[in-house]
Amino acid sequence: MANEFNMSEKAQEIYKQIEEFCEKEVKQQAMEADAKEGDILDIIEKASKLGFNALDVPKEFGGIGLSKMDSVALLEKMSWYDAGFGITISANGLASGPVVIGGNDEQKKKMYDIILNGGIGAFCLTERNAGCDASAGESRAVRDGDDYIINGKKCFITNGPIASYYVVFAMTAPEKGAGKGYTAFLIDKKVDEVEGMSIGLVEDKMGIRNSQVSEVLFDNVRVPASMRIGEEGQGFKLAMMTLDIARITCGITAVGICQRALDEAVEYAKNRVQFGTALANNEVIQFKIADMQMHTAAARELCKHATELYMKHLPFSSEAAMAKCVAGDAAAYVTSEAVQIFGGYGFMHNYPVEKLMRDSKIFQIFEGSNEIQRLVIGRNALR
Ligand SMILES: Cc1cc2nc3c(=O)[nH]c(=O)nc-3n(C[C@H](O)[C@H](O)[C@H](O)COP(=O)(O)OP(=O)(O)OC[C@H]3O[C@@H](n4cnc5c(N)ncnc54)[C@H](O)[C@@H]3O)c2cc1C
Repeated sequence: MANEFNMSEKAQEIYKQIEEFCEKEVKQQAMEADAKEGDILDIIEKASKLGFNALDVPKEFGGIGLSKMDSVALLEKMSWYDAGFGITISANGLASGPVVIGGNDEQKKKMYDIILNGGIGAFCLTERNAGCDASAGESRAVRDGDDYIINGKKCFITNGPIASYYVVFAMTAPEKGAGKGYTAFLIDKKVDEVEGMSIGLVEDKMGIRNSQVSEVLFDNVRVPASMRIGEEGQGFKLAMMTLDIARITCGITAVGICQRALDEAVEYAKNRVQFGTALANNEVIQFKIADMQMHTAAARELCKHATELYMKHLPFSSEAAMAKCVAGDAAAYVTSEAVQIFGGYGFMHNYPVEKLMRDSKIFQIFEGSNEIQRLVIGRNALR
């Protein structure tokens, strides 16, 4: 095992457990489940029993106290096996982010207890009219005594149907605009335990089909005021700060896809014989492999760099955007080249690179599309 992330001893142990688990439970099953869209719930349950969903839980809340660099390294490995699996697990980091940043100890304890008991979360920001422009959300939260009443429709929510806790963003003061009008809430229950909350359309996707994505609907959902995260009006800031961190994990998931595509292509090129020699003996193929490796390594280094800055409490917003953007573009490029090296076989469902190419596309779209990342990077540079 190459320890490129300088993982702690504990993380190296978990790395081996992940490898063992994923070889047995994920590698083949994910290919089969991909055809059915999202049928890896039993795998997620088994992975959660081993604590793979709880890598970011701090020691003071009962976790094993891994560093962010450790959990990023482990996420790359999970995503190497299946990006849908990696995203399902890493969406926990996205969902927990607002509570970690702005929640009080009681809220943190409730959330971490759920995670330590095998639960995963869902981050509910996007709406049909509020995609890249997250500020355009129309969901409302109205104070009623000791509660808030939430109404609205969220869409494209990762883990929507399977989450054990939800972080929801809704307008408490629409007249103040998104910057001061949005508020975040923690719902520490499964969807069928909350009156008025339900799952709408479950999406049928091009890629990462083993990650479940759905609408989450709120019809007069009562949430105690004690579950408001931070103050009224802080929601948008919490969402944006969370997305900064999530861009690193999103980037490293894409790196996992790149590395898998590269590994598959190398193996295939060494074994496929045409014109009396292995593909690997052609310089054109060697150059392709070299380019794929360069893009993968560059994306990984950017993810590591952004993680380091985050761990040192230094500004990392641009660097996280660069990591996510470069890694997303790299995954699209590297997987396409892998399909090219496989030739016609690469185009077929029963070869792994076809799925990798489909899985890669979303990394240019979600958690801030790559156009939005370029806006973030460009604006920061021109400040
Ligand atoms: C599989 C999947 C999982 C997701 N998971 C979650 C989740 O867990 N929680 C959640 O809240 N959301 C989630 N999302 C939502 C995701 O973050 C949004 O889809 C994304 O932000 C883009 O929004 P949109 O799809 O509405 O595209 P639009 O905003 O309609 O954008 C369409 C295109 O226009 C470009 N564009 C938009 N504005 C500009 C601009 N100003 N300048 C240049 N180009 C621009 C975009 O980059 C994109 O290419 C998920 C989406 C998907 C598909």
